[in-house]
Amino acid sequence: MATKDQKLSVVFLPYLAPSHIIPMVDIARLFAGRGVAATIITTTNNALLFRDSVNHDAASGLNISVHTLKLPSAQVHLPEGIENFGQCTSPQLMAKLGYAIALLQNPIEEFIRDNRPDCIVSDMFFPWTVDLADELQVPRIMLYPSNSFFHCVSHSLRLYAPHEKVLSDSEDFLIPGLPDEIHMARSELQDHVKAKSRYGDLINSIRETEGRSYGIILTSFYDLEPAYSDHFKKVVASKCWNLGPLSLFTNRDNVGQKNNSGEEKHSCLSWLDTQKPNSVLYVCFGSMVQFSDAQLTQIALALEASGHPFVWVVRKEGKSESWLPEGYEERMGRDNMGVIIKGWAPQLEILDHQAVGGFLNHCGWNSLLESLTAGSPLISWPLFAEHFYNSKLSTQVLKIGVEIGPRVWNSGFEINSPLVGMDELTKAITFLMGGSPEAVEMRQRAEEISIKAKRAVAEGGRSYCDLKALIEELKAYALQK
Ligand code: UDP
Repeated sequence: MATKDQKLSVVFLPYLAPSHIIPMVDIARLFAGRGVAATIITTTNNALLFRDSVNHDAASGLNISVHTLKLPSAQVHLPEGIENFGQCTSPQLMAKLGYAIALLQNPIEEFIRDNRPDCIVSDMFFPWTVDLADELQVPRIMLYPSNSFFHCVSHSLRLYAPHEKVLSDSEDFLIPGLPDEIHMARSELQDHVKAKSRYGDLINSIRETEGRSYGIILTSFYDLEPAYSDHFKKVVASKCWNLGPLSLFTNRDNVGQKNNSGEEKHSCLSWLDTQKPNSVLYVCFGSMVQFSDAQLTQIALALEASGHPFVWVVRKEGKSESWLPEGYEERMGRDNMGVIIKGWAPQLEILDHQAVGGFLNHCGWNSLLESLTAGSPLISWPLFAEHFYNSKLSTQVLKIGVEIGPRVWNSGFEINSPLVGMDELTKAITFLMGGSPEAVEMRQRAEEISIKAKRAVAEGGRSYCDLKALIEELKAYALQK
């Protein structure tokens, strides 16, 4: 039985994708900041992504450490060094990485058994940690790095199957049983919602662990989506803590940035210093999206045609840049029109910069939340995973953005849905950045949300209190044992 003077010890197990690692590390650092002995379990290369933040915390007296494991790359013929899904450039590499991660189960279990923590905070994609927690008789908390809205919509789709009652993939249907009237089309839903699949089986097994977990952490905040937060507690899990926005909570180094030049201030931030407030469009599609050359060309043309300054993050492997119109970068540089970042961008700092007035993105949850936290309205171009749900939250509930795109879900990060042409893109950019009354209202609403976000993590705010309550509850649980 734990004693009152002993520190609560918690292991944190992030899944190996940037959008899962970033929030889990933030949560571990928050726990450590409140007197918990926190251990993050990950692989060698992924540990490098957040080493500096953790070392900084440890040097200032917090009890936080990283336990690194070697990814069994050779066993699955995965090239050394590829350790997270953001580094995969093909579906084949993704599959191999998935196998390698599955092979980590034994060494992770062994480490946890040997160390007997008081609690396991596990990413959703490790459903087997629920059995381990049962065996060790410790609480297992599941991290869903997402919002209540997404889970509520998924629940209604399972319960009422409105997508089975429409005549075509493109016909809009109303999703019953939700606090608002939300419409979607069948073409926007993930394959596993529409037909049985192996991935669907995994999702079902994750869902089964909802009830067997001690509780669930979401990375949203209550005042962003109060009706859905309440609904989530009714229909998914009554024990749930909203800990977002994590980027405001922790003094986070931008994970991944350390791989770049190592310079103190990214050159794009100095460029932003030269731009007028709210004049720049930030364009970034998260850590995984890979567009075809043809699609990149359309984006380049639209950015130029719209005439609004931009920072565009392009994730493109290979040296060929045939997708860039001739003389493009020279022109953009000469006219001081835009900056292209090839690689990892300091997204939080860019969004926080006063020159940034809008965000063209894929509606990955972290990016959407970071945009809201910074008070930026958005052009949402949902592509895969749960992006279409997030996009409905931003356009139909929060009304802080416009949606573009063919409304066709992609099964992976390689985008095969029909091209979005420069005309559609230019129209959306001109709308959002051009100062129309509707766009100004969207910015005002985003700014109001930003104020609520800051309130949520300040002392006494909902997320602040949720974090405190969760740690107190875990301490009490450990003492009772
Ligand atoms: N990110 C970043 N720089 C980049 C690309 C992404 O800092 O150049 C961060 C971004 O701030 C966010 C995360 O990576 O925290 C991406 O997560 P999201 O859920 O938006 O998208 P995903 O990567 O899952 O598609």
